[in-house]
Amino acid sequence: MEKIIYTNSKNETIELGKKISNYLFKGATILLYGDLGAGKTTFTKGIGIGLGIEDDINSPTFNIAKCYFNKGNLNLYHIDAYRLEDVPKENKDIGLEELIEGDGVCIIEWPIFIKEMINEDDSLIITINITSDNRRKFDIKSNSSKYDKLIEEIK
Ligand code: ADP
Ligand code: MG
Repeated sequence: MEKIIYTNSKNETIELGKKISNYLFKGATILLYGDLGAGKTTFTKGIGIGLGIEDDINSPTFNIAKCYFNKGNLNLYHIDAYRLEDVPKENKDIGLEELIEGDGVCIIEWPIFIKEMINEDDSLIITINITSDNRRKFDIKSNSSKYDKLIEEIK
């Protein structure tokens, strides 16, 4: 299934993240594709707000992964694999796999750099394209029926 959604501001992207958070579950994995400045972190902020996480979510570029523990609700694991681009495969084993399909929601920026750890067919795949200064195109798709309701209902 696949759905295309446009947002016209940073706030609309946060709202989209909030809406999508309602459909997430333990073990949900979202792969975020898109250039620098596309809105991946902004979208993740919206998911965090939607899940009830009180900490502000910012770019984990210098941390690779940040864990937001969320009493009584889904934890959020935010991975930014950007800095793993040139790291040899055998050195990437830093425990990320435990966060993917783990006991919370896992959102991955730059999944291309940890593709050996990811099962694309089991993930929600979101590709964000910059169509103008404030407009973003979200291509939301999955091969897994776990996300059918989300993709069908989201708008
Ligand atoms: P990424 O994590 O993909 O590098 P960020 O979310 O950090 O991107 O940054 C997105 C930038 O684009 C922010 O400066 C934000 O204000 C701007 N922006 C403009 N329009 C939008 C939009 N529709 N959705 C998300 N961000 C937008
Ligand atoms: Mg980012």
